[in-house]
Amino acid sequence: MRPDILNPLFAETESLDGVGPKLKKPLARLGLERIRDVLYHLPDRFVVRRSIGDLDEAQVGEQVIIPLTIIEHRASRSARGPYRVLASDAKGNVCALTYFGRASYTAKKQLPVGETRWIAGRLDQYDQMLQIVHPDHVATESAGAMGRMVEPVYRLAEGLTQPRVAGLVTQALERAPDLPEWIERGVLDREGWPAWRDALVLAHKGEAGQARDRLAYDELFANALALMLVRQSNRQRRGQALSGDGRLREKLDLPFPLTGAQTRSIEEIAGDMAQASPMLRLLQGDVGAGKTVVALEAMLIAVEAGAQAAMLAPTELLARQHFETLQRMARPAGVEVALLTGRDKGRARESILMGLLDGGIDIVVGTHAIFQNSVAYRNLGLVVIDEQHRFGVSQRLLLTRKGRVTPHTLAMTATPIPRTLTLAQYGEMEVSRLDELPPGRQAIDTRVVGIDRLADVIGAVERHVQGGQQAYWVCPMVRGSENEGDDLAAAESRFASLKERFGDEVVLVHGQLAPEAKDAAMAQFAGGLAKLLIATTVIEVGVDVPAATLMVIEQAERFGLAQLHQLRGRVGRGAQKSTCLLVRGNELSETGKQRLALMRETQDGFRLAEEDLELRGGGELLGTRQSGEEAFNIATLEQIARLLPVAHDDARLLVESQGGLGDAARGEAARTLLYLLERDWGVQTLRGG
Ligand code: ADP
Ligand code: MG
Repeated sequence: MRPDILNPLFAETESLDGVGPKLKKPLARLGLERIRDVLYHLPDRFVVRRSIGDLDEAQVGEQVIIPLTIIEHRASRSARGPYRVLASDAKGNVCALTYFGRASYTAKKQLPVGETRWIAGRLDQYDQMLQIVHPDHVATESAGAMGRMVEPVYRLAEGLTQPRVAGLVTQALERAPDLPEWIERGVLDREGWPAWRDALVLAHKGEAGQARDRLAYDELFANALALMLVRQSNRQRRGQALSGDGRLREKLDLPFPLTGAQTRSIEEIAGDMAQASPMLRLLQGDVGAGKTVVALEAMLIAVEAGAQAAMLAPTELLARQHFETLQRMARPAGVEVALLTGRDKGRARESILMGLLDGGIDIVVGTHAIFQNSVAYRNLGLVVIDEQHRFGVSQRLLLTRKGRVTPHTLAMTATPIPRTLTLAQYGEMEVSRLDELPPGRQAIDTRVVGIDRLADVIGAVERHVQGGQQAYWVCPMVRGSENEGDDLAAAESRFASLKERFGDEVVLVHGQLAPEAKDAAMAQFAGGLAKLLIATTVIEVGVDVPAATLMVIEQAERFGLAQLHQLRGRVGRGAQKSTCLLVRGNELSETGKQRLALMRETQDGFRLAEEDLELRGGGELLGTRQSGEEAFNIATLEQIARLLPVAHDDARLLVESQGGLGDAARGEAARTLLYLLERDWGVQTLRGG
């Protein structure tokens, strides 16, 4: 159970003063649901202001604090126009303080004509005049504005303002208790790190270097600790040694010989499965490397040894596709394969559940529905988790507890993360790598074209389709927001315009469609009835249609390198030559330009991952909570690289010296940390094991 000391931190954000139902939504959008979320909503950056005596000293664009004397208020003639207050510095230079909308009420109160006020804000130029739009602070003396020379800038959502968030953070900090220290004294002294609560206060104030390092370390330490505890309890659990005799694998209908890397990975997996202690292995292989067959071979080992296997896919689309592939290949061996998703209801579902219970079904493929409490297996021997970066670590590791004996677990990922990060995300899992693509794959001809050549792109698609081949067209969003004017690149409107040209040959798939509609469209495309598939990134993971050989990615600069790589990996799967057209917008950042150039240059997923890391720089987080990706919310990539080895060693020392977390004070403190950072699945596994 969660230690009592943490209770105030897990109270809802609504318990803060001034937070009602109206603020709840925007806060939730930022992931700020409890007090602890607010505490860990660390500033993106800080505004540093300069105090100046007169306007001659300032640069346009600079954040300043300056005394100004109010000359005159000027309301706009139109209702929508700005409200301007003219003010002058000591030398007589004039500057406008500009307000829009209701903010003018504040201006009337705060800025009486003839008086001097200290104004903090960003100095801009409008027409020939200097102006400050919506000053951040107005004070009657310099001290009032001076106190805010350094001010945090928070990530916002619509309906929230900086002062609002800052106010909530202040309240949250007041509620934060001192927590028992989980970092060893020696480490704190060596690094010069403050205590947990102090670190939070400092991180919000701007003296952030060491404070943020400490908070990042906390997260890395907690993560390493949790993974280690899971690993440890997994080792202590009873598994079953499964060695197949090859009788089913022999009869497999494989249309190709395995690659060396596939054979090696299968041997490594077979070696683990032959042990009584449950396997925890990660199969890492670039898109198209052929992970599915490896999974099938592993599952057949389980079946040959008299057990069942389950394969978990992140989407229904993928589950269905795996089911079809596996069934086609495994049928000749007399292996019973079933599909189970959340959509199966009634009799169909009952009969699958029965088959799993009595052993009539050997292999089941599905979404998380296959692990619901109502699903019982006769003897589950192996769990395969495909494209598992879509699941939380906790979820996927805890899943393996289904059944009396712990099944072996094989996690598969196409996310080519750099070696340094593998440890951070998976702890000390065993890793097999498919570092060799099946033979005969041709390089994908990748080209970057400007949006002004859209007509040419459509022409190319048309020729492609007329030539009897298939194509994907990926858009960055489902529908555009009207005010951004990017409506055209949205999947729905692109679909509408291409439909005029391609008629029934074009289908649309995106995440907001009903599952049935999605499947129907996908089936049409996979079956070759539809020639052109318009989609959002839902097709990113795993979709396999070898006959599709053209990929168009619109507004390609909006995607990250890893994502572009995944998308491009949907083509180049057959023997035919494939093409990828990256359609770029007109305004391209330097990073955007470099990204697209890299895509043209290489197809090596691991190289792209390393470069992605470089391009994104140290300041970035490893994915975000919003996208549902397994992520560190506090530690940046740079901090992971620098602090993870230490955190990892410290975690190991603690676990090994106590044989778990133990009951000593530090173990208790570490337990508190695991709950605080929601890695308590580590503790729970320990107890449950
Ligand atoms: P991944 O899941 O690793 O992205 P898949 O398992 O979907 O890749 O395989 C991609 C494609 O390559 C599939 O069409 C599959 O049939 C094919 N394939 C897999 N292994 C081989 C091989 N050894 N030789 C030729 N083709 C292969
Ligand atoms: Mg796959």
